[in-house]
Amino acid sequence: MRAQIFEAGIIGAGGAGFPTHIKLAKGMAYLIINGAECEPLMYTDYEIMMQFSEELVTIIRDMLNALGLKKAIWGIKSKHKALIAQLNTITSLDDAIEICPLPNIYPAGDELTLIYKCANIIIPKGQLPSQKKVIALNVETLYNIYKCIYEKQPVTDKYITVTGAVEEPKVIKAAIGTTFEEIIKHVTVTIPEYDILLGGPMMGSFVSADIKVTKTTKAIILLPKDTVLYHKKKAIGIGSIKRVMSACSQCQMCTDLCPRNRLGHKVEPHKLMNAFANGLVQNSDKLHTALGCCGCNTCSYYACHHDLSPAELMMMVKRELMKEGIKPSGEEYPRPSHNVTAEIPSSRLLDKLGLKQYDKPAMFKAQKIIPRIVYMPIAAHIGKPASPIVNVGDYVRTAQKIASGDLTGISANIHSSINGVVKKITQTEIIIEGR
Ligand code: SF4
Ligand code: SF4
Repeated sequence: MRAQIFEAGIIGAGGAGFPTHIKLAKGMAYLIINGAECEPLMYTDYEIMMQFSEELVTIIRDMLNALGLKKAIWGIKSKHKALIAQLNTITSLDDAIEICPLPNIYPAGDELTLIYKCANIIIPKGQLPSQKKVIALNVETLYNIYKCIYEKQPVTDKYITVTGAVEEPKVIKAAIGTTFEEIIKHVTVTIPEYDILLGGPMMGSFVSADIKVTKTTKAIILLPKDTVLYHKKKAIGIGSIKRVMSACSQCQMCTDLCPRNRLGHKVEPHKLMNAFANGLVQNSDKLHTALGCCGCNTCSYYACHHDLSPAELMMMVKRELMKEGIKPSGEEYPRPSHNVTAEIPSSRLLDKLGLKQYDKPAMFKAQKIIPRIVYMPIAAHIGKPASPIVNVGDYVRTAQKIASGDLTGISANIHSSINGVVKKITQTEIIIEGR
């Protein structure tokens, strides 16, 4: 199974794009399935679970057997009552598959938060789930494994929620390498001027229309320029040192609401803010707190009443420390108290971000969008970019391998998402024109 998954170019469809075959090591005990989809406005995973329930359960059964796992626990928001009922019916005879209803909070889908909520296992700061015998996979990644095993299909297309200021939000299927401009033609936009948010409101970023769909694209959200979220994301220098010095009251709300802090990890953004405000940037204890930050932006977009951005500084310091080879200690901490009042209800979050009016379910569209030209990314996964194995002028078919990953390292294969001719090969992409 591992070799087939590598061959099909499967990477995490819901996060940073970690090659999936590496997660499937021997000696694991639990499969934690991420169907939480905790970012507001997104329906991609929900629709995949609704439309392909049987396929997902089939591949979960196979993985339990093939990998000798004890249990699969499937985290889904409890608000999805019909979906949970459907899955409970399909799995009623499967003792080793448990559906775990999750509260409608952010960030229930953060990998470590999900593992704790589903299996009561805390992954220490700096450790991987595998170190606690856990494999965590997003539902779309699982569906890609199903297509690889049962339909011999590599990853060539992607399900994406297209929502925001549109007449009818949709979950569409697009060929990988399609430009966002092309995708937006498939919805009716209701405002003359908009910005494009790639990903969810909390962790996504504003991008231009020439960005292309990759194996990790989950949502395209079209928003006017006057939303609170737009101003929060676009505000220049919101995390600047001067603003921290003058405005941070050291109230600690950022730390109290931090999901990683609530897992017992030593992630304390208020201490980093204090270090910056007081010029203590050489204080390694205060800086090392950044190593456990997952970039969820809870501290910046929800907790801080002064509109400061602790997340911006936390991620900046984390990047610098990692560049220097400094890693978290992996130290174990006591389990947290169950202070549910510190969890963030999704409805409150939508209010705070000014997005409530866009909170509408998305319609599932099964037909694949196939553009005239695709720009196949060769480095959209974590690790080593794939090496092109085609030449300019070659005719390639859909699902044909066009770039090879390195099985011995962290890497992934790339397959053409359309039939066509290779027009150009650059450092980052293979451009194919449809024929
Ligand atoms: S929430 Fe804002 S004001 Fe309070 S400690 Fe954190 S950064 Fe400072
Ligand atoms: S972004 Fe803020 S709230 Fe999220 S993990 Fe990092 S410090 Fe904690």
